[in-house]
Amino acid sequence: MNTGPDDDVSTPTPTTDTDATSAAGTAADTAGTTTAERRDVESPLALKRRARRTYRVLAERYPDAHCELDFRNPFELLVATVLSAQSTDVGVNKVTPALFARYPDAEALAGADREELETLIRPTGFFRSKASSLLGLSAALVERHDGEVPASLPALVELPGVGRKTANVVLGNAFDIPGITVDTHFGRVVRRLGWTDEEDPVKVEEAVGALVPRKEWTMLSHVLIFHGRRTCHSRRPACGACAVARWCDSAGIGVVEPKVAWKLLKDTPPPGTVPDPSGAGGS
Ligand code: SF4
Repeated sequence: MNTGPDDDVSTPTPTTDTDATSAAGTAADTAGTTTAERRDVESPLALKRRARRTYRVLAERYPDAHCELDFRNPFELLVATVLSAQSTDVGVNKVTPALFARYPDAEALAGADREELETLIRPTGFFRSKASSLLGLSAALVERHDGEVPASLPALVELPGVGRKTANVVLGNAFDIPGITVDTHFGRVVRRLGWTDEEDPVKVEEAVGALVPRKEWTMLSHVLIFHGRRTCHSRRPACGACAVARWCDSAGIGVVEPKVAWKLLKDTPPPGTVPDPSGAGGS
């Protein structure tokens, strides 16, 4: 999970692949108003309905949305999530098999030789500080929780190197306790969709949590993160191949010509979930 600086731009420059209205199906198409006008008049209830509709459509677009870190238990997910800072999940998944074979639990990891640990996690970047985090949090797990990962947000965020985002990943995916994971993709996508203008992750979490039922929070996080990784890219969002352009406040900020936009997708959409690249029809 990339937790690097969000390089989203607040006032994106439209690309030269223009004609947003025909390709992407903007809010203006469906509501008869401009996006700015809609935002001025959209009631909290209308926003909630739009957000839930958008989520439902995205859930169909990404039916296999899930945590992309490999893990077999809460300890492994906690460690993998710490390693995913400033790295990709794919990169983390490459190092964790050997890491967990060597250190299968908190006790083993707390007693790890630092140099050996650093060598194992080096490919994920920032390996020295990550090694410190892993040694510190493993020791804390042993001292405070008998080596077990606690299933509560306050206890998790008390652990060294564990913030709200990591805690919510662990709660949602290892304990089935709903949590919203505001990573760089999630924050960018919800701001573009116009669900919130907040930049602070905790405020984003609160704002989005008020729009979508609590039981959906974990899956919502997966779906929006999938969307950010596969379609709503930071620099060139594929608006012309986006399943939810008609409900997005930012539709048209990216590439809107369908054939070009399709090439930007990082997956193959399920049939009928995104605009037809031939231009014959919409989603
Ligand atoms: S790709 Fe992103 S910015 Fe473009 S329409 Fe879809 S959600 Fe909106």
